[in-house]
Amino acid sequence: MLEIKGLKVKLEEEDKQILKGVDLSIAPGTVHAIMGPNGSGKSTLSYVLSGKDGYSVTGGSAMLEDVDLLEMEPEERAAAGLFLAFQYPVEIPGVGNMTFLRTAVNAQRKARGEEELSAGDFLKVVRAKAKNLKIDAEMLKRPVNVGFSGGEKKRNEILQMAMLEPKMCILDETDSGLDVDAMKLVADGVNALRSEGRSFLVITHYQRLLDHIKPDVVHIMADGRIIQSGGPELALEVENNGYADILAGVA
Ligand code: ADP
Ligand code: MG
Ligand code: MG
Repeated sequence: MLEIKGLKVKLEEEDKQILKGVDLSIAPGTVHAIMGPNGSGKSTLSYVLSGKDGYSVTGGSAMLEDVDLLEMEPEERAAAGLFLAFQYPVEIPGVGNMTFLRTAVNAQRKARGEEELSAGDFLKVVRAKAKNLKIDAEMLKRPVNVGFSGGEKKRNEILQMAMLEPKMCILDETDSGLDVDAMKLVADGVNALRSEGRSFLVITHYQRLLDHIKPDVVHIMADGRIIQSGGPELALEVENNGYADILAGVA
């Protein structure tokens, strides 16, 4: 589904190398987790894959199935099936959540050559999906994320994901700042979306999210590289011993 080879990325503003050769191969229907100390480049990886400004790729490649992600505009990447749930969801004053979702869904359907959803059909789908995520109908009418609690914002990200039905979902520290109940709701939402044709890359600083979203593969990222990969037991090792042992083992 996603094939990253030797990806090297610099900040455009400063001459600072952030990703120093990332290799990652994610098969369809699998869940991969990336853990790693703060500042190791996890968010940078997700930003570069989704096409955020400010980074320059100095080497390597990133393919989503048979398309070259790095050659595409952010909206083309989304239409191709990539979705990024942000670590810090943005508030968009003046734009109703429902309008936002409907515009996003229909823009994507258009880009894929599919018919737009009628207002009635859209409403039915969004209400059902919101209900599964325990998102109040009232929240659909409010401006996007404005005044939402941390947990509501993250659930709203998962609602966007559920509506857009992407093939490759990247969740960047979706658990940060959430209490256990809110995290479980987010995890349940993600688990409900797991399917044979859909893959996930779950970026997290803590192991606890992975108790609820069981990964197939766990990677440890440090200083711009993936330095170790393994099964779910690798996350438990980090939980018990921190990153020091793994980092020392590599150095
Ligand atoms: P992580 O998500 O693993 O905590 P980041 O990808 O956010 O790591 O950051 C990796 C490194 O790049 C850090 O040293 C961070 O300070 C730096 N960095 C990322 N984006 C910027 C930016 N826009 N300006 C300056 N430094 C940045
Ligand atoms: Mg961080
Ligand atoms: Mg980060």
